[in-house]
Amino acid sequence: MRYGVGFQMSDRRIYLETMGCQMNVLDSELVRGQLRALGFVSVDDASDADLVVLNTCSVRQHAEDKVYSRLGEIGRLKQQRPGMVVGVIGCMAERDHEGLSGRSMPVDFLCGPGNLHEIPTLIEQVYASRGSNVPNASSRPTALSQDRSRSVPAAQRSLEEDGIESLDLSRSATGGNVLQAYVRVQRGCDKFCTFCVVPWTRGPERSRPPAHILKEVHRLADAGTREITLLGQTVNSYTYDEAGRLVTFAELLARVHEVPGIERIRFVTSYPGDFTDDIFEAMRDLPKVCEYLHLPAQSGSDAVLQRMRRQYTVSQYFDLLDRARAIVPGIALAGDVIVGFSGETEAEHEATLQLIERAAYKNLYIFKYSPRPGTAADRRLPDDVPDEVKRRRHAEVTHLQERISFKHHQQWLGRETEVLVEGPSKAAAKARRTEGSPDPALAWRPRDQLTGRTRTDESVVFRGPDTLIGQLARVKVTASSALTLQGELIEANGPRT
Ligand code: SF4
Repeated sequence: MRYGVGFQMSDRRIYLETMGCQMNVLDSELVRGQLRALGFVSVDDASDADLVVLNTCSVRQHAEDKVYSRLGEIGRLKQQRPGMVVGVIGCMAERDHEGLSGRSMPVDFLCGPGNLHEIPTLIEQVYASRGSNVPNASSRPTALSQDRSRSVPAAQRSLEEDGIESLDLSRSATGGNVLQAYVRVQRGCDKFCTFCVVPWTRGPERSRPPAHILKEVHRLADAGTREITLLGQTVNSYTYDEAGRLVTFAELLARVHEVPGIERIRFVTSYPGDFTDDIFEAMRDLPKVCEYLHLPAQSGSDAVLQRMRRQYTVSQYFDLLDRARAIVPGIALAGDVIVGFSGETEAEHEATLQLIERAAYKNLYIFKYSPRPGTAADRRLPDDVPDEVKRRRHAEVTHLQERISFKHHQQWLGRETEVLVEGPSKAAAKARRTEGSPDPALAWRPRDQLTGRTRTDESVVFRGPDTLIGQLARVKVTASSALTLQGELIEANGPRT
């Protein structure tokens, strides 16, 4: 059996590595499903693969540096196995076409996030360009690495949604994790925050038809998925014109809530500027919608927010947090901040520390600013905060949040709560892997320890049988740290808190 001009069954081992956000995790799953349908089999090691695909992230310089370093390692593998095909997909493939197509790069094809449905065609083009040679049959360098004057086949981003939409719809079940699944409700972003590459790499904001989203959720529920996370860059700004009537995000939540088999619904990432109270009301009134909200602030200074072109002020942000807490009892909030953005003074940094203290986040994602080529900040604003200052500010924010998270977790002590049991804890998984090891340091590890997640996204570790995996259970919290909670099992399938 052959696919197109190049592939044979013996050539179909794929290694796919994912970097970056939840969108990329979902994209990788869809790409894997697409290639699985063509007979590809996943392997865990790039050195065993015929096709190596890196799904990349452009959101920070550090993420891109990591990709170049990985490509260096993969290039060395490819020298030993010249038949190997290497693809770079995702945001970096869209943003850094020139760098990745360079003469020294081992890359055979590039594909941006808006064209992932074209991957089979791109792979076919790579093999077609090698004439009748099949990859493993030749020890010659690839045609492209011999002749860099030819351009690497790259899918151009298109605003037509048909192909990429059908890729989302082609999904029949999740890959590794059946219990929890991401479902995209929106592509791209129109906000153009000055530091961000997403509007360039993922294109303009487009909401998917509710019927498509529901079809996907039904299929996942039938396959055993219990928890759905709806994904969008600014998920709360979802809106779809359905025969002249606008479907809002709150209404979409209500429709997903009706799908039998789904026990929990989450959504990320929200944009503070577009948040309306009907979403809080949906969180309060729909029992399956979890009381957890990720609401990036980015800075505690109005001047910095303005330079970032965030479309809200600090006081509007706090007003939103106050409304969230007033309308949704027990809601847990998570945030993002960027330290060391262009021109950030000590006073502006101090304002961010104050915001974090007052917001009392459950957890916080902290980033050191790095200019992204092509963004407005890169073109117009100097990267003038020295790196050692950024590092110091990053450490200050981290220490503050650790203290807040620890305090937040302490409030859980003695409480009973519902968890969705995800699987063995990390310690139990390691104990099972090292079963029979003579190392006494491993002997204490409990093999029957499980991890469950609360509705507010806390991780709780407790002892229980594997039969609980995939079920809701009730646990009592007995100990806490800044990162996790420990508990004991009260009962399986407990009622909701
Ligand atoms: S809202 Fe801003 S930070 Fe978020 S994806 Fe859009 S441009 Fe980027």
